[in-house]
Amino acid sequence: MDTRLSERPRLGDWHTAGDLARLQDRALEGLLAAAAKSPFYGPRGVPSGRAELARYPLTTKADLRAAYPFGMLAVDRSELATYHESSGSSGTPTASYYTATDWLDLAERYARKHVGIHPGDMFLVRTPYALMITGHLAHAAARSHGATVVPADNRSLAMPYAKVVRVLHDLDVTLTWSLPTDALLWAASARLAGLRPEHDFPALRALFVGGEPLSPARRARIGEIWGAPVVEEYGATETGSLAGECPHGRLHLWADRAIFEVYDPVTGTCAPEGRGQLVVTPLYREAMPLLRYNLEDEAEISAAACPCGWVLPAVRVLGRSRFGVPVGSARLTQLDVEELVFRLPAEYGVLFWRARAGAGGLRLEVEVDRRRRERVTRELREAVGTALGIEADVRALPPGSLVPAALLTAAPDVLKPRGLFGPGEDWDKALRYY
Ligand code: AMP
Ligand code: MG
Ligand code: ZN
Repeated sequence: MDTRLSERPRLGDWHTAGDLARLQDRALEGLLAAAAKSPFYGPRGVPSGRAELARYPLTTKADLRAAYPFGMLAVDRSELATYHESSGSSGTPTASYYTATDWLDLAERYARKHVGIHPGDMFLVRTPYALMITGHLAHAAARSHGATVVPADNRSLAMPYAKVVRVLHDLDVTLTWSLPTDALLWAASARLAGLRPEHDFPALRALFVGGEPLSPARRARIGEIWGAPVVEEYGATETGSLAGECPHGRLHLWADRAIFEVYDPVTGTCAPEGRGQLVVTPLYREAMPLLRYNLEDEAEISAAACPCGWVLPAVRVLGRSRFGVPVGSARLTQLDVEELVFRLPAEYGVLFWRARAGAGGLRLEVEVDRRRRERVTRELREAVGTALGIEADVRALPPGSLVPAALLTAAPDVLKPRGLFGPGEDWDKALRYY
C-alpha cells in the first residue's frame, strides 16, 4: 500500500493556483517513483521533476496498444484489482489496470460532481460492465457513499429499455449514470409504456451523464424531459474521471489529481490552456502510471475563475471531432447538428435524428409525428441554413423509423441454458439462451 495515497487532496484543500501547483509537484514525486517501475517508462528513463516532465515525449494510444496486455504494468500482477479495455473501433485492444489503492482515487474522483451521492440514493448504473471501466467506476463510487446500486448495464440483453423504465419507476431511482443518448431512449420507452417522464418519476434527483459529446441544447432538453438536472462527467477507461460539473454548470478538470495540458499537433507544442488534444498525467497511479498521455480528445481548457470557487481549470470537450465531416465547403461536427435539432421547441417532440453529409449538402432525417412534419422540416432547414450556411434536405420520418418501438417496449425473458425438452416443446433454442 502506497502511503502517499492517504494524502490525496480533497476539494477545498487549496485556495490558489499556486497551492494547486504545489499539490501537483508533491504528488508528482510519488508518480515518477511508480513510473520508474513501469516496463514501458523504466527503460526510457523517467523525468526527475516538473521541468523535465514538460519536455518528456507524449505517451500515445499507439504506445498503449503496442504494450497490450501488460507492457505498462508497474506492480506485481497479484496486486491488480481490475483489468479493463476501452471502447473503440480500431479492433486493437487498449488495456488499463488498477490496484485496490488506485480504486480509492478513482471512486473519489467520480463522486465529486456538485450533486453528491448519499446513503439514501438508489443509483442506476446504466453503462457497460464488460471490460470498460465506466460501470465499475460509478458502482464503486456509489457503494463507497453508501448508495444502493441498481446494476443495469446498457450492453446487456438482460436489461432492455422497458426494464430500465420499470426499475426507474418502481424502485424510486434517485440518480442515474448513462450516456446522454440513453436518457432520451428511456424517455421514449417510458412514453410508450404510458408514463410521463416529467411527472411519473418524482424520486429522480439528477441524471449523471458522460461518454459522448453533449451540446447545450440537448443537455437542456434531457433535463426538461425528466424534470431533473443533468450533471456531466468526462473521463476515459485509461484514466477514470477527469472532469466533473460544478454548481454553475461548468466542467472542471480534477487538476489536484492529474496534470492537464493541451497539445497542438500542428506546432507540436503543449500549453496549460487553450484548445488542442487533451494530454493527461494522472498523479495517483500504482498499477499503470501514465506520463503525458494524449487522449486525442479535442478540448479547450480555460483557467478563468468560476463563481463556484473550486480553483480548477474548466474544460469544454469536443471529443474526437476535431475536423468534422465536409459538407460542400463547410465542415460539420455532430455537435453542430445536434444543437440545432434540440433547439426545436420541446412540444415538437423530436428525440431522434441522423444525418449524412454528401457532395450536394446534408441529408437530415428526424423522427416526428405527422402533425408536426411540415413545421419541423421547414424550421430545421432554415436553422441549418442560417447557423451553418448549408443547404439541408430535411426529411420527417414517422416515429419508430430510427428507433423501432419494439426495441423500446420488448422485455424478453432472461433464460438459463437448457438441454432437455418435453415432447412437442421447441428445442431449436437448446443452449442458445441469449
Ligand atoms: P472509453 O475510453 O471507452 O472509456 O471512452 C472515453 C472517451 O469517451 C473519451 O476519450 C471521450 O472521447 C469520450 N467522452 C467521455 N466523456 C465525454 C464527455 N463528457 N464529453 C465528450 N466526450 C466524452
Ligand atoms: Mg478511449
Ligand atoms: Zn465552476
